[in-house]
Amino acid sequence: MEYTTQMNAARNNVITKEMKAVAAYEQMDVEEVRDYVAKGQIVIPANKNHTCLKPYGIGRMLKTKINVNLGTSKDCLDLDMEMEKVKSAVNMGAEAIMDLSSFGDTQTFRRKLTKECPAILGTVPIYDAVVYYNKALKDITTQEWMDVFRMHAEDGVDFMTIHCGINKRTAQRFKDNKRITNIVSRGGSIIFAWMEITGNENPFYERFDEVLDICQKYDVTLSLGDACRPGCIEDGSDISQIEELVTLGELTKRAWEKDVQVMIEGPGHMPLNQIQANMEIQNTICKGAPFYVLGPIVTDVAPGYDHITAAIGGAIAATYGASFLCYVTPAEHLRLPDVNDVKEGIIASKIAAHAADVAKGVKGAIDWDHKMAMARRNLDWETMFETAIDPEKARRYRKDSTPEREDTCTMCGKMCAIRNMNKILNGENVDIMEEE
Ligand code: SF4
Repeated sequence: MEYTTQMNAARNNVITKEMKAVAAYEQMDVEEVRDYVAKGQIVIPANKNHTCLKPYGIGRMLKTKINVNLGTSKDCLDLDMEMEKVKSAVNMGAEAIMDLSSFGDTQTFRRKLTKECPAILGTVPIYDAVVYYNKALKDITTQEWMDVFRMHAEDGVDFMTIHCGINKRTAQRFKDNKRITNIVSRGGSIIFAWMEITGNENPFYERFDEVLDICQKYDVTLSLGDACRPGCIEDGSDISQIEELVTLGELTKRAWEKDVQVMIEGPGHMPLNQIQANMEIQNTICKGAPFYVLGPIVTDVAPGYDHITAAIGGAIAATYGASFLCYVTPAEHLRLPDVNDVKEGIIASKIAAHAADVAKGVKGAIDWDHKMAMARRNLDWETMFETAIDPEKARRYRKDSTPEREDTCTMCGKMCAIRNMNKILNGENVDIMEEE
């Protein structure tokens, strides 16, 4: 049977090959996957023009997925280097790549991605419109914003972030209720500035029906952007953030009426004690649409270590309902990440995602930890390396510090608790000081 989107298929009881792939990967019944897709609680971003895609589902009952932001900028315009980062991100297990290119021939890079990259691809057409038209912001027309959105859909992008929650009403609330860091979303700040300069309504909000028609045609999943995500923990859960979330909830309903798949973007900087409540509010207002969080970064004071502040927040957010974590690298707030920053960011996000999956009881999640625990108990170093989230680093650390006894490590040497417990429980003698 013909269908428009994965959601449209699911609602007509059609099982797509993408649903089958998701069910197999998640160890779930395909009928259950179909039912969640029909309800909007799982999205399978899969543009019909992204033919080399390896599909994944995103939803709170599934394994937590991670996204890696890449792309060119005016200061870093090396397409080959960005492509290398894409390949290594996919090899390290990133399920999605967002191409945030903001300089040069962005379409060539985007098309290369949709031809060669199997990861889910996302973009923010608002940035690209500024590059594409290369003219004063005030001179970009509503139609031109829409044209770029359509162009990305045709190019095969699986999900697009558009900041349509910052309409005139939210913008007024934002101006009436001062915050410390104003708007820190790049796309959000551009569209807010355009609205202020031109006096016009947000083009993606005003033409939302047309946005939905484009999404329906290519099966683009909407990632409803949070222009008002807090940029410091003191702005967390403020009026602007919640006002915008209410609008996103209304837009989610409209998208579902046209069978368009939707995710909601979330914070941002946020104190640890507000995260659970934020996940629950989003889940209620947006009726279970998957939550895609950018962090949350739980303290503002750690530039150089924001992969850690974000992993702490991400683990909590995913435990309480976020489905998709945007990685944060040590370069956050400082510069465009290099290859090593990308690696550190991916590993940190994967740790957060997996920790949450264990806490949520996602099928098969704890098996990984079980394998490592057994290897540790048996002092089976090779299996420990193979099982490690970063085998290369684990091997390097061990190699750099040779223990006096092969089976232990230099932390405790002959006092190795694991070795001594194994011996004593096997009926062997333990004599730490005498032993050669
Ligand atoms: S020496 Fe200490 S840290 Fe190293 S494996 Fe044994 S118990 Fe673990």
